[in-house]
Amino acid sequence: MRSKLMIVAAMLAGVVSAVAPASAQQYPTRPVALVVPFAAGGPTDVLARTMAAAMTKHLGQSVVVENTVGAGGTIGANRVAKASPDGYTVFIHHNGMATSVGLYRKLSFNPMEDFEYVGLVADVPMTLLGRKTLAANNLQELTAYLRANREKVTLANAGLGAVSHLCGMLFQKAIGLDLVTVPYKGTAPAMTDLLGGQVDVLCDQTTQTLPQIAAGNVKVYGVTAPNRIASLPNVPTLAESGLKDFQVVVWHGMYLPKNTPKAVVDRLNGAMQAALKEPDVRKKLADLGAEIVTPDKQTPEGLRVWLKAEIDKWTPIIRAAGAYAD
Ligand code: ASP
Repeated sequence: MRSKLMIVAAMLAGVVSAVAPASAQQYPTRPVALVVPFAAGGPTDVLARTMAAAMTKHLGQSVVVENTVGAGGTIGANRVAKASPDGYTVFIHHNGMATSVGLYRKLSFNPMEDFEYVGLVADVPMTLLGRKTLAANNLQELTAYLRANREKVTLANAGLGAVSHLCGMLFQKAIGLDLVTVPYKGTAPAMTDLLGGQVDVLCDQTTQTLPQIAAGNVKVYGVTAPNRIASLPNVPTLAESGLKDFQVVVWHGMYLPKNTPKAVVDRLNGAMQAALKEPDVRKKLADLGAEIVTPDKQTPEGLRVWLKAEIDKWTPIIRAAGAYAD
C-alpha cells in the first residue's frame, strides 16, 4: 500500500513538474504589469510606455504601465521584490536601483538578491534647467545667481534615490553651494512646477525635457553627458562649461522578482530585444536623446554585472558624503 502511495505521489510530482515549465512556456496568458517607480508622464514613464507598447506586440498580451511612486523609486522596487515570481510584474528602473543601497540604511529589498535581470535598455542624458523667467542665461550666470540668492532659490528633485536628486547633489557640490531642495514623486510634477515658476531649477532626463526646451518653456544651462548631444547641438556640456568631470548618464534596466522561471525571463528578454530593434522605437528614443545599449548589454548577465559595478561605485561615495535618506 505504502509503495503504491509513493508511486502515485511520484507520478503526481511528475505531473506538477511537467506542468510548471509548460505554463512558463505558454507565458503570457494575461496582461503583464510594467511597474514604473515614478510619476506618470515623467522621463522614466515615457521610456516605459514606449517599451510597453512595442513589447505588447511581441508578447501577444498587453503590457500595462503601473506607476508605484514614492521614496525616490524604492517603493516601486519593494513592490516588485515582493511580487509573485510569475512574470506578470515586471520592473523598469534606473541608477536608483544602485544608489539606493548607499542612500538607505534600512532598504526593504536587496537589488542583488531579490530580482531576476532581464537586461539593460537605454542610456539617457540629463539637462540642467531653470524656469523660463530666471535672469541667468548660461551656467556662469546661473551659478552667480544661485550664489546671490542661495536662501530663496529652490532646486526640485524626485526624492532621495532619484537621478534628479543625484544630479542636484553633484551640482551643488560642484559649485560649492547648499540649496533648498523640493522633493516630488517624479519629475513630471516637478516639471509642472518649474513651468509654473513655483520652483527655480531642475536637473532632469531628456526623455521629458527636450520637448519643453524645444518649445522655449524652460532655460537650459547644460547637458550632463560627456559630449554634446545630437538633439541639442548648441547646448554645452556642464563639463565644458567649467564643471570639470561632471557627468551623469541615466541607465535603465528591466527586472523581475527573484525565482521567476528562466523560460519567462527569456521570453521577456526576447520581447525587450525585439522592441529595441523596431525602427519606430529606435527613432522615438533617439528623438528623446536616449541611446539604446549595445546588444551584449541587453541581456540578464549584462544588467547583473552593470548593476553590481554601479553599487560598488556609488555606495562608498554616498556613504563618504553621509547622504542618508533614512
Ligand atoms: N526619472 C524620474 C522620473 O521619471 C525622476 C528621477 O529619477 O529624477 O520622474
